[in-house]
Amino acid sequence: MSIQTHAYLANEKGQILEKSSIELPELVEDHVRIKVTHCGLCHSDIHLMEDDLGITQYPMVPGHEVVGIVEAVGANVSHLNVGDRAGVGWISNSCGHCKQCDKDEENLCAEAEPLIVASKGGFADKVDVSGHFAYAIPEKLTSENAAPLLCAGITVYNPLKRFLTQKGMTVGVVGIGGLGHLGLQFAKKMGARVVAISHSDSKKEEALSFGADVFVNSSSAEDMAKVQGDIDLIIDTVSAKHDFLQLFDILAPNGTLCVLGITSEHINLLPVQFILTQKKVTGSAVGSPKDMAEMLEFAAEHGIETKTELMPMSSVNEAIQKLIRNEARYRIVLEN
Ligand code: NAP
Ligand code: ZN
Repeated sequence: MSIQTHAYLANEKGQILEKSSIELPELVEDHVRIKVTHCGLCHSDIHLMEDDLGITQYPMVPGHEVVGIVEAVGANVSHLNVGDRAGVGWISNSCGHCKQCDKDEENLCAEAEPLIVASKGGFADKVDVSGHFAYAIPEKLTSENAAPLLCAGITVYNPLKRFLTQKGMTVGVVGIGGLGHLGLQFAKKMGARVVAISHSDSKKEEALSFGADVFVNSSSAEDMAKVQGDIDLIIDTVSAKHDFLQLFDILAPNGTLCVLGITSEHINLLPVQFILTQKKVTGSAVGSPKDMAEMLEFAAEHGIETKTELMPMSSVNEAIQKLIRNEARYRIVLEN
């Protein structure tokens, strides 16, 4: 039987979210239904509300850093029980049989479904997702801390795991927001020398407290000159137009610029800029269920702590405006 629940809906581009009654379909055997207690606000929610990627289907319910209590489980779901704490991130389903799904890389499946595109997201009382993409939350993590790890955390953890091949490598984290402040913490705990790169001096003290060894203001040529040719891996989390070449320049030879932020600009590089330096430009997309379980364990074991601002779910529109003004410190979590 389908059920009625409440959710905050974006009915069209540029509109505020409206609380409405929605229908969740009858729970199928591979799915779980979660009663939402907490949901982080990620900048991707705003990109999707504004249809920046051209994939939004209105009406949509944003919210993809969901933690709550399992309310119902389908017959084929065995790793979660009613009453458990569970979470959901960006992906709510994948094809389950392609080369990527077979290799535990469901995040790269061509049919991977973003929760807030294919289904209804977590700014709601309840969500319904494939059990394969519903994660048990380790006991040591509070729900408020765990929610942002399910998108922001996994998105920075994944490239650090892939590209941080030796202890002592220098990692630059660009943009100290939701993703960035977790990137500083994960990079430090993984043994890197960490450089925080921000366009706002106001974040210096906190960036150092999150694990940065050095703080650099990207709008100061003098600051940027100090790290020229110094950085082995850049995790670029900036959510707005910015200068990619400035970042490419501060990489060491063989360095990697890993772009995570979704912006609408091109990266203009001449072949010679790669050839003579062997630098690489790549991207990274959230993570697979296997990565997610590993990341949550790592966070619990190493005391990775999201710096949250807790707000009631009913203040979601206020929270969105705050994030747009770059005033969130550092992840807003909505609470039901
Ligand atoms: P956020 O909390 O808003 O952080 C973004 C940071 O970018 C800000 O804190 C700010 O840091 C910097 N920034 C903002 N405007 C800027 C400007 N005009 N010039 C230079 N820097 C600016 O956003 P988030 O939730 O961390 O998400 C970051 C980006 O990652 C978004 O585009 C989001 O959609 C994307 N994302 C991608 C994936 C993926 O799988 N690849 C997953 C999740 C999110 P400073 O003030 O320190 O400069
Ligand atoms: Zn996200």
